[in-house]
Amino acid sequence: MKQNNLHKLKIIIFTILILFSCQPEKQKQSNQKDKVSKPAKDKVDYRNLNRLNTKLSKPVMGEWLFSQKESGQSFKRYINSTHICPDSLNNVIYLNLIGEFDDVDMGVLKKLKEYTEIFFRLKVVMREPVSDDIIPEKSRRFNMENEQLHTTYILQNILKQNFPKDALVNMAITSADLYPRESWNFVFGQASLRGRVGVSSIFRYKHHCLDSVNCSKYMNRIMKTTTHEIMHMLYVKHCKDYKCLMNGSISLLEADKKPSWLCAECLAKLIWCTQTDVIERYDDLIRFSEDNNYPDKAEFYKKSKAIMTESY
Ligand SMILES: [Zn+2]
Ligand SMILES: [Zn+2]
Repeated sequence: MKQNNLHKLKIIIFTILILFSCQPEKQKQSNQKDKVSKPAKDKVDYRNLNRLNTKLSKPVMGEWLFSQKESGQSFKRYINSTHICPDSLNNVIYLNLIGEFDDVDMGVLKKLKEYTEIFFRLKVVMREPVSDDIIPEKSRRFNMENEQLHTTYILQNILKQNFPKDALVNMAITSADLYPRESWNFVFGQASLRGRVGVSSIFRYKHHCLDSVNCSKYMNRIMKTTTHEIMHMLYVKHCKDYKCLMNGSISLLEADKKPSWLCAECLAKLIWCTQTDVIERYDDLIRFSEDNNYPDKAEFYKKSKAIMTESY
């Protein structure tokens, strides 16, 4: 097989559509970086948090799990298989803004940076917006009246080609709509796990956002999309048992229903992977949720913190 074709084949195999277009992750796991050797930072039993888990009800038509087979991923399976975790060399999350963002967008994206730092407890670098002129005509199209950008070009030709040395993941957020292939209408986000690159768009989230005060839904959506995709880039798979940030979603309606927090098992994966302090993380999440008027999140994190504090 020619090198070029081999490269294309690799892209097809390892590129996984994320979130609303999330496809089940079927690729063979072969990158064995950090395999199993990492001990948990604390000895807390995360199963104590199970009492806060809400079981998913039986899926109905129109929901992700009705049409998609998910294998699930236990904590044990996660730590014994491929995963990407921060280390002394690669530990920064880069967020690249591509397109045109007004003052309201920039206010929301500034909050997104703060939230992403708190969620992963890693340094986040948000780069100044660049024009989407960097995407050539052949990788753009019009769908209805909206100009769309081709995700593959952004992942392979922009993000992978400009992967910072210290990056854990390199992600783009576009103002324009996205499409992954000609046969698709659009896509909300896409990631290439092995490449540790991902892209999502704010285009379909902004409706009803008139100013920075009433933009909490818009902000919540982009926060959930970004953290969901980065979790995938750490090789965390879809969660199929409990209401969780890592649930797959087939529509905006379904995505809006899922929480911004992780179930106990997915949280255990994140804490194990990032080796962070779970109580300090809760403190920051409670503060952020209160400061930004998300009382349901603040309440959930307070309950979680109380349970975990008892466990220490
Ligand atoms: Zn997903
Ligand atoms: Zn979960």
